[in-house]
Amino acid sequence: MSAGSPVDSAADLHARTRAVLPSWLALYYDEPIEIERGEGRHVWDSAGRRYLDFFGGILTTMTEHALPAVTKAVTEQAGRILHTSTLYLNRPMVELAEEISAIASIPDPRVFLTTSGTEANDTALLLASSYRRSNQVLALRGSYHGRSFSTIGVTGNRSWSPTSLSPFQTYYVHGGNRYRSPFAGLSDGEFIAACVADLREVLDQAGGDVAAFIAEPIQGVGGFTHGPDGLLGAFAEVLRERGILWISDEVQTGWGRTGEHFWGWQAHTHGDLTPDVVTCAKGIGNGLSMGGVIARADVMNSLTANSISTFGGSPVTSAGALANLRHLLDHDLQGNAARIGPGLIDGLAALNSPIVGDVRGKGLMIGVELVRPGTGTPGEPAPELATAVLQEAKDRGLLIGKGGLHGHVLRIAPPLSLTATEAAEGLAILTAALHAVAPIGA
Ligand code: PLP
Repeated sequence: MSAGSPVDSAADLHARTRAVLPSWLALYYDEPIEIERGEGRHVWDSAGRRYLDFFGGILTTMTEHALPAVTKAVTEQAGRILHTSTLYLNRPMVELAEEISAIASIPDPRVFLTTSGTEANDTALLLASSYRRSNQVLALRGSYHGRSFSTIGVTGNRSWSPTSLSPFQTYYVHGGNRYRSPFAGLSDGEFIAACVADLREVLDQAGGDVAAFIAEPIQGVGGFTHGPDGLLGAFAEVLRERGILWISDEVQTGWGRTGEHFWGWQAHTHGDLTPDVVTCAKGIGNGLSMGGVIARADVMNSLTANSISTFGGSPVTSAGALANLRHLLDHDLQGNAARIGPGLIDGLAALNSPIVGDVRGKGLMIGVELVRPGTGTPGEPAPELATAVLQEAKDRGLLIGKGGLHGHVLRIAPPLSLTATEAAEGLAILTAALHAVAPIGA
């Protein structure tokens, strides 16, 4: 291998990746594949092998790989002009913002487009601190909100937040992980009451000056964990009493992924009790670098300084995201997630594998918590088994994700267009992979 010479194999590319990119760049496999192309719910590696993609890239392929409408929109826009900046009028950006406003489900929304989820959450935190004139933030334990200094500063998952230095004074509360919680075993109502009591106590200790509460309705990197429906609404009532803003991080849960609702927060509340700010990214661009902040006008417009994102809302990514969003809505892919997901959850829960501690999720966002056999409930987290299952699944032609505080949770999040046949195929492969790691029914 040498700089400038063509890559001659996946192994060569792997060695060169390790030599030139940072050591902390996360890779799932000892021998990672190079994905060369995709179509529908499948991808092909550089050796021509086909895989069923049960992770949708990394929840980025929301509709399907190589969706013709997205390719057409991007190609046509790129043929006209790649980029101009928000200093000039930008038709695709405004059309996308209008489309997002129409489905935002929060009052009087304004939309600011970014290049990533991190930048969206950075912006939301900036807005909240400016609106409330405070740098105190409340977040869920185990959360992940991005890789910048400010978003790491509100990230509770220590495996993704290497420093405790933060521009924010952050307080963490219970509620994001029901399986591993001191309140596990309580009924929904009791669990919510216990978490609200914890929230009130933390707020009282903080002294009444908190700017915002930021939360993922289902924790993504945290291992697709969540509290009962209604929890965040119960929190929102307390926040509203104290004028604290609610930021819903929908980077993973937005765009119908959870099936029943278009946004994850909608499982938690009703009426006019909505988040003040919603952040999104990942699936909106179907793989294009796109994120966004949707905020009530008074919050969005509270920023008095000038602000710009050079590449946020670029004409090319906006045109692609608009085509993707229209396809998602026209084909009711949210409804498809609601129809296909429960069968997968039931199928996995029925397996009775000795290493599966918990199966949970909503729509096409499903977590399978792996534990060391015979270690009781909730059981010892088993990251080595998760790594082994990922490998066994890959060898059988299925790509899945992993996460959780210890990297011990399998994560399933295929494109929302997954068919019933593909769901059954993926379930069969995953069953075989789990069985290969720890025999089922032995
Ligand atoms: N918020 C959540 C809930 C995420 O899952 C992620 C990424 O995984 C982010 C924010 C950061 O998004 P990005 O990687 O696009 O910066």
